[in-house]
Amino acid sequence: MLGNMQQQPLLVSSLIEHAARNHPRAELVSRSSEGPLHRTSYGAVAQRARQAANALVRMGIKPGDRVATLAWNGYRHMELYYAVAGMGAVLHTVNPRLFAEQLEYIVNHADDEVVFFDIGFAPLLEQLAPRLPNVKCYVAMTDRQHMPSCVLPKLLCYEEWMGAESADYEWPMLPEDSACALCYTSGTTGNPKGVLYSHRSTVLHAMAACTVDGMGLGAAETALVVVPMFHVNAWGMPYAGAMCGAKLVFPGPALDGASVYALLRDEGVTLALGVPTVWLALFRHVEQEKLRPRAELLLGRVLIGGSAAPGAMIATFAEVFGAEVIHAWGMTELSPLGAVCRLLPRHAALGPAGKMRLREKQGRAVFGVAMKIVDDEDRELARDGKASGRLLVRGPWVAAGYYRGDGGEVLDADGWFDTGDVATIDPDGYMHITDRAKDVIKSGGEWISSIDLENAAMGHPAVAEAAVIGVAHEKWQERPLLVVVLKAGAQASGAELRAHLEGKVASWWLPDDVQFVEQLPHTATGKLQKMKLREMFRDYRLPA
Ligand code: ADP
Repeated sequence: MLGNMQQQPLLVSSLIEHAARNHPRAELVSRSSEGPLHRTSYGAVAQRARQAANALVRMGIKPGDRVATLAWNGYRHMELYYAVAGMGAVLHTVNPRLFAEQLEYIVNHADDEVVFFDIGFAPLLEQLAPRLPNVKCYVAMTDRQHMPSCVLPKLLCYEEWMGAESADYEWPMLPEDSACALCYTSGTTGNPKGVLYSHRSTVLHAMAACTVDGMGLGAAETALVVVPMFHVNAWGMPYAGAMCGAKLVFPGPALDGASVYALLRDEGVTLALGVPTVWLALFRHVEQEKLRPRAELLLGRVLIGGSAAPGAMIATFAEVFGAEVIHAWGMTELSPLGAVCRLLPRHAALGPAGKMRLREKQGRAVFGVAMKIVDDEDRELARDGKASGRLLVRGPWVAAGYYRGDGGEVLDADGWFDTGDVATIDPDGYMHITDRAKDVIKSGGEWISSIDLENAAMGHPAVAEAAVIGVAHEKWQERPLLVVVLKAGAQASGAELRAHLEGKVASWWLPDDVQFVEQLPHTATGKLQKMKLREMFRDYRLPA
């Protein structure tokens, strides 16, 4: 028997229309590419998104067409999120930090019709444009006064392009499984692959982000969205914000410690979201300027994901900022939210070390994502917090394949997606990532977690950043090498760092050697680039 309830498609346009009606005055603050801070509201963004939708129709964009953005976090980018998806086209958020060859590859692979860009990217696009034969038009996201002087075929000015259009626009009733957005994985191995989100997956994901034990976004929050809108849709914040009417603060291109701190303070930010590397820059600034964030900021929670949040970072936020770190795990293929780490009431009885051990875990699956770990024969492993294996996931906002079928079949017969991560899951469901499968260090038939070692090393006061890779070893097959970047002006020897790790990790995990470098290689999304690091140490031999 069928239920008697309405069938309403879940559409991205319904989010902004809901915000326009119920949170019209909730603010969106952006540090603009032109320089000054810009303030607008959900009401105004909804209106301008409808104008932009009319402009897209006028320029001949049809449902299903791909429309690219090359832009930082800001209100015009937000308008395009809604205009493009809402009218039925697909918003392709391009990561400008990729190499030129990768940019060329993905814009051509996605077959983008138009590229909207922040003025700072004009020189990059000028170089690229001759290699993007299918792009029909470029739109600079600015007003006439700030138009960049560059040579691009069919160059338009955003404010002129949409400014004269009517704000009357009826969002089409699309099938909810139509595509709304496209985001490429960073392609650390091989070409980047496209993840094509649907309206349905995006709205369901936004609902999860607004749950208290999800990202806990709500109308009372002011969220600083440091995670870029070109990186998995800024973890869904532009959608979730409209759903609940949270004030959103967009940092634009200025991600340095001083600029981020100023926004935290001046905008009364309560929740900040970003990958670990951006917070290191903030910590350096606070230390150098001898600031007192605990007294000056309202920051209550910091959501960290994308790479493991080291214990030292969790402790600094607690002690220096008075803020709770909420560790989360996800990936482009998961829209990205998969797991969130929040303690349970009974954990209040734990001591500081016990609480920290839990906070360093990536957390429990949010409703909508099922998780399991399996061994090499695909047999499910125990949820005992000890057995570690490949992490598989399944759910309505998990990718079922890649754009244009790249990478072939990615689900197993039961619909599980292999994340490429290795993890444990404890009896309460707390999942702990021990490694990327390709970064695991295999020593004497056992696995050593490079992430656990890195986190322990970053607990040393002289260490700014640490990475651990496996190096070939005659007897043990592989042994860990610790590579460290010291804080400016700080000193520590390899022996001191090894001594610091003793007792924090199993004795046979202790790195055989420590090497010091000026900086570590990172991917376009701020992750350690282990492949490059292994290349850098290709000729390195462990001390006998
Ligand atoms: P990429 O395109 O580089 O894969 P993603 O953001 O999709 O970018 O990366 C997803 C991967 O990032 C995960 O599979 C996992 O390895 C890593 N990751 C994400 N969050 C965490 C976390 N909290 N702790 C450890 N690793 C994480």
